[in-house]
Parts: sequence; structure tokens; C-alpha cells
Amino acid sequence: MSIKWDGHTHTRFCYHGSSAPQEEYLDQAIKLGFERYTISEHPPLPQGWIGNAALFEELAMPEAELPLYFAYVKQMQEQYSGRIEITSGLELDYLPGRLDYTERLLDRWQTELEDVVYSVHYLPGKEGMRCIDFTADDFREGLLSYYGTMENVVEEYYNHVEAAIERAGQLPVRTRLGHINLIEKFQQALPPIDEGQIRRRLENMIPKLAQAGIGIDVNAAGLRVATCGKPYAPEWFIKQCRQQGIACIYGSDAHKPEHVGTGWDWYEAFTL
Ligand SMILES: [Zn+2]
Ligand SMILES: [Zn+2]
Repeated sequence: MSIKWDGHTHTRFCYHGSSAPQEEYLDQAIKLGFERYTISEHPPLPQGWIGNAALFEELAMPEAELPLYFAYVKQMQEQYSGRIEITSGLELDYLPGRLDYTERLLDRWQTELEDVVYSVHYLPGKEGMRCIDFTADDFREGLLSYYGTMENVVEEYYNHVEAAIERAGQLPVRTRLGHINLIEKFQQALPPIDEGQIRRRLENMIPKLAQAGIGIDVNAAGLRVATCGKPYAPEWFIKQCRQQGIACIYGSDAHKPEHVGTGWDWYEAFTL
């Protein structure tokens, strides 16, 4: 059995999460028997990245806080030394048209980074960039109306994921692709997504992941979302990835302490 590892978690540096002290997350992880814990906060975004100013404020920390974040992680590593291994990470965004922004962050902070979760959260849509995971109403208004059909939105989403894989493969840090099926977050509140389309796109991605040498974030957060009800990666896909030697790392995507380790039982049951 491999190490018990929660590879995707957030902190009080996330303004759509919780302000709970880090100890609550880490004590929960220790209580559940985790041996390794990756802190992978959302990094800053380019100013004005999305049009909705109030939402922008919530998406990510301002640039000035990034040094404080890395200092915070370091402090936790010292405080918990010998009890749980904490790795220092970021959930980097694939920013279409602004890859330079992420490059600059990486240049500056690469030496502090042990883990990158590389995620697609944004697609071009009505009036500029839109979040794919904000609310079902926002999805309908900003993306579904823009692309016309779910099939078109889903196709564009996976096109972005494929481009993200290629980019992620070039990063000089241990990297995994974040929640590959995040596009299903509001599936029960939106027109249905064709299962065949998902299968076709994911199957095509397996060789690309293998070639890029990156892993996947087996993200269980979808289990906690009423309109999703399942993890953001199908079991058949995870099994096939494992057969190809692609690292499949469990991630709770905890945005509050009680999220830590949720869905681990599901993950453990079918990966054993
Ligand atoms: Zn978040
Ligand atoms: Zn994410």
C-alpha cells in the first residue's frame, strides 16, 4: 500500500474557503492517519482576469500575500515535523492567453515548491473569462449561452485540459492535473453531458498524460457537491491511468478542516 496522502488542500489564504487555523486541518489529517499532506493554495491571478470584480476578490490571494503564504507553509512544516510530512504546493491555473503570468510566478517561487496541482478553472465565455465552477446559474449565463450546447462547452473544456497537460509536462516540479472532470460539477442542474463524449475525451488523454510525465489529482470534492455527487474522475479512468504508470494521487480539495480526507474510503476501496 502506498503512502496515505492528501494531495490537494486549501488554507486561510483562500477567500472562498475558511479562515480556520491551519492546525485544525493538520490535526484532522493526523487523526485520520494521513502520512503526507500537500498544501496547495490558489495563487494570485492577473488583475482583472475575470470581469466580475466581487468574484475576482474571492478567487485568489493578492500577489503581496504570496511570500506570507510560503512562510506560513514553512512554519507548519517545522511545527509538525515528525508528525506528518507537509509538502509545499500551489494549485496553479492554466490561464489561456496569460501563461506568462504563471511563468513569472514559477520563476520567482520554484525553489519553494514541491507539488503543483495544475487546474483548468476558466474558459473564455460571455464578456471574457468565466469560472466553470462558480454556480450553475453563472455557468448557464456565461458559458452555456455562449457556446450554445453542453456538448460545445464540454468539448472546449477538454481542449483546454489537453493544452494544460502539455504545459504541465514542462513544469520543473512534481505535477498532477487537477480535478480532470470539474466540468461535471453542476451536471444535475444543467442539461445532461453525454457520457460517450466524456469517455472519448478522457481515453484520448491517457497517452498524453503518460507522455507528459504528470499525474492526476483523484479529486473527491465532487462527492460533497449536491449537483455532482461523484468524484471528479471516473473509476475506469483512474484504473487505466494506473495501468499506464500515471501517478493517481488522492485529493480532498479541502476548503475547510472537516473536508480533509473526505472520500478517502471510496478511493482506498477501489485502488487497493
Ligand atoms: Zn478553491
Ligand atoms: Zn480547483
